[in-house]
Amino acid sequence: MDKELQKGAILILSGPSGCGKSSLLKKFYENFSNYYFSISTTTRAPRIGEQHGVDYFFVTKEEFEEDIKNDNFLEYAKVHDNYYGTSLKPIKEALILGKLVIFDIDVQGHDLVREKLDSITTSVFITTPSLKELENRLYKRDTDHPEIIENRLKNAKIEIHSLDKYDYLILNDDLELASKQLISIGNVALIKSSLFNKDSIIKIWLGEN
Ligand code: 5GP
Repeated sequence: MDKELQKGAILILSGPSGCGKSSLLKKFYENFSNYYFSISTTTRAPRIGEQHGVDYFFVTKEEFEEDIKNDNFLEYAKVHDNYYGTSLKPIKEALILGKLVIFDIDVQGHDLVREKLDSITTSVFITTPSLKELENRLYKRDTDHPEIIENRLKNAKIEIHSLDKYDYLILNDDLELASKQLISIGNVALIKSSLFNKDSIIKIWLGEN
């Protein structure tokens, strides 16, 4: 569709670390081309295997606070004692190109994006079928110190209460099924009627061009 006629859309994914978001997104990317993944900026230390500019932009607290001062973030939040934020500029560019812009952000970030860009936003809360399953996955993954895992579980217990703020819920038990659900949501997010330039569409539809 002509870029003048349709804007891009935002798809927010939230859910606890360990719920399988990364595996789901991998499957999603194999089946979806017109997307842009928003790489967040964070002050947390990289995990083993994580790369600067791929997983996150890893910065110092001072650098992050400078970006806050310069109004560079669409939203930012403190999660597990670290800052996480979404830079505005690349998002704007991707939206102009009509892309599906994917955010992996927490509940606080979700609420802030909804406040600013509700009409183009679709959101999905992803979690494991139970807290016990999340705990098992986090300990099995073995990428974090037990203290950090306990902190993540504590946060997950709080975040689950926000699931009704989201348009969709995926209980990620079966990766195949969950990835099909996510792909369906991505497709639907891009045909929200509010993304279309109504006046131009009607003119064309009436044959007035
Ligand atoms: P992790 O440290 O496991 O990568 O992420 C911790 C939490 O921070 C996750 O819930 C993730 O969705 C959230 N997060 C990552 N990037 C952002 C961001 O840019 N903004 C907000 N608000 N949350 C984020």
